[in-house]
Amino acid sequence: MEISQQLQDVEWIPRPKILALRRLGITTAEGLLTHFPRRHEDRHQFPKFPREESDKPVCLSGEVIKTSLRRFGGWKKIFEATLQEPDANALSQPLTCRWFNLHYIQKMIATGQQLVVFGKPRLRGSRICMDHPEFEVIENDEERSIHLRRITPIYPATEGLSQRVLRSIIYRLLQELDTEPIEPLLPKNLKNGDRGQAIRAIHFPETWESFEVAREHLVLSEFFAMQMLIASRRNESHSKLSAARGGRGELLEKFLRSLPFALTTAQEKVIAEIRHDLSVGHPMNRLLQGDVGSGKTVVAIAAILLAVEAGHQAAFMAPTQILAEQHYAVLRRWLEPLRVKLSIRTAARQEESFLPLVEGEDKADVIIGTHALLYEKVSFPNLGLVVIDEQHKFGVVQRARLIRQRPDEPAPDVLVMTATPIPRTVTMTVYGDLDVSTLDEMPGGRGKIITAVRNSAKLGEVLSFLRAQLEAGRQIYVVYPLVEESEKLEAKAAAVEYERWRERLHPWSCELLHGRIPGPEKQEIMERFRSGETKALVSTTVIEVGVDVANATVMLIENAERFGLAQLHQLRGRIGRGEHKSYCILLTSEPSSETAEKLAVLEKTGDGFEVAEADWEMRGPGDLLGTAQSGLPALKIGNLKRDAELMQRARRAATSIFASDPGLVAPQNQRFQQLIVEQQGRTFSNVS
Ligand code: ADP
Ligand code: MG
Repeated sequence: MEISQQLQDVEWIPRPKILALRRLGITTAEGLLTHFPRRHEDRHQFPKFPREESDKPVCLSGEVIKTSLRRFGGWKKIFEATLQEPDANALSQPLTCRWFNLHYIQKMIATGQQLVVFGKPRLRGSRICMDHPEFEVIENDEERSIHLRRITPIYPATEGLSQRVLRSIIYRLLQELDTEPIEPLLPKNLKNGDRGQAIRAIHFPETWESFEVAREHLVLSEFFAMQMLIASRRNESHSKLSAARGGRGELLEKFLRSLPFALTTAQEKVIAEIRHDLSVGHPMNRLLQGDVGSGKTVVAIAAILLAVEAGHQAAFMAPTQILAEQHYAVLRRWLEPLRVKLSIRTAARQEESFLPLVEGEDKADVIIGTHALLYEKVSFPNLGLVVIDEQHKFGVVQRARLIRQRPDEPAPDVLVMTATPIPRTVTMTVYGDLDVSTLDEMPGGRGKIITAVRNSAKLGEVLSFLRAQLEAGRQIYVVYPLVEESEKLEAKAAAVEYERWRERLHPWSCELLHGRIPGPEKQEIMERFRSGETKALVSTTVIEVGVDVANATVMLIENAERFGLAQLHQLRGRIGRGEHKSYCILLTSEPSSETAEKLAVLEKTGDGFEVAEADWEMRGPGDLLGTAQSGLPALKIGNLKRDAELMQRARRAATSIFASDPGLVAPQNQRFQQLIVEQQGRTFSNVS
């Protein structure tokens, strides 16, 4: 049998199982053989039943000597199965496995059966229990050797397919698979070895060492394929032509002279990088990373001015209306004296009259907008530069859409900016087609931010602190998470919260801001806060990104445990923007050790990268990237964190192939062309 075999043509697989597999998107032998185990159990020999609790799950085997079904609390039920270990003696303690309200379990387990269970042993009274263990009934058939006395694969749970059935099908497929070596997807210098061998060993390894070797092979294959696609995209964009768009820089010089501060060294370095990009004949594709407050806007303006001076239009995109309006205000202040013409487009500003984008004397040089701009029918005939702010709020697809151009137009230069520090492996994947610049220095003259976690029960003390700050002339943010899902409830919850805070902060003026407030009104509220007329802003996370009010020095975050670390760090970035000392107070009513550990990270460090690393450690990469997570490629076996080093190796290999053979025409490289075509369909296919 060949690996490309259709499963429906394999006679011995029962039809209902074929259907169940198809529901998982598995239709070929290869598809099934790359449905990798999620873990393995060493079933050579099972340990003795434990006598103590453990936080590490263990794998045990025993005979069911008793089952019982008990009711509790009215209609709820507990099903219990008592297991006895093999070679039990008088001192042996049985193990009680318990399932709550899972009616189907009782139909699967009966006295006399042999079970393998996997779970955490817990002490309940004098009994050792396992609650909701994973389990498998061992049957006395000729297939026993597939499931026992080996390192046994455990697959991701699949409806309609038991572990046993799935394992048996995969076992037999592997037996029938041709023993001829399958051509590796990897270049020789990256990893030697046979792909078929690796696939066998990833399912049924002889030893843990052979499993590790197989895993490395397959992870590298996966990463390499992905990096080849990314490298090919990069290669493509580098071979595209664009007009050199760097102006002479006079406008930029004027702008820099008008600033009330000197650039940081980091800003200077990044502006030079951008200037270089713009001066060469292929389009810029650059990611600018910089922690909140590091001064990305100035860099964006520098890029915009270079493009404008060279006679092009620039678009500046923000994820929210508030932010677009803020950028508009900042750019007006700085650019109108330089006679640069600005126009704004947001969903809320549809009706107003704009400077025309296209014709006439008054044609806008810079168009600022929200992503509503993305979907607009207007095309920019002269678009030379696109700046996308707070990229993590946009998905990869939106980015692609924004910069999609007509084939006959020269590609615009693109600068994407993000305040979410991104671990390197993620940068290498989601943003792998971009060059990366980092603003690794904060402008001087910033007040310190002190972060403190407080129990909600201590609200009284916190309130007197807030009042003292208001008394001293400062302004404050109060942020709370919304739990309601419907718009109506959400608005209502916000209103209730707001009333409470108005009373608490009386007589200081207080306003409410949330996502359901219509655009223009939102704008007025923000303006009153910026001007200092409003002293306290009670808000949802709509203020999360970019908002810049230097006199606001206190941020109180309610139910802080409901936010992710990266998000809390973003929120905190709203303060500490002026010369005054700032305070971020994280209120929580849930002092569990996990919450405490999480929030303590913010007390300890103000560095976005450290926060991101800790966040990643605790929650995995998905949440870290927020909505952009939808742009993460679907990985079958590799793990972005654990396998960071393999990703680097794969990336180096892919880059060097394209560097020496951009057309992939050398005989040893031609096979990679197909690989890239396959990846096109696969890699970013899970993007919403
Ligand atoms: P972010 O990187 O979070 O977008 P901003 O661009 O909004 O940061 O900058 C934050 C604040 O710092 C703004 O008020 C900006 O004018 C100011 N700023 C930027 N660069 C400097 C600098 N080199 N020195 C002092 N202040 C600066
Ligand atoms: Mg910003």
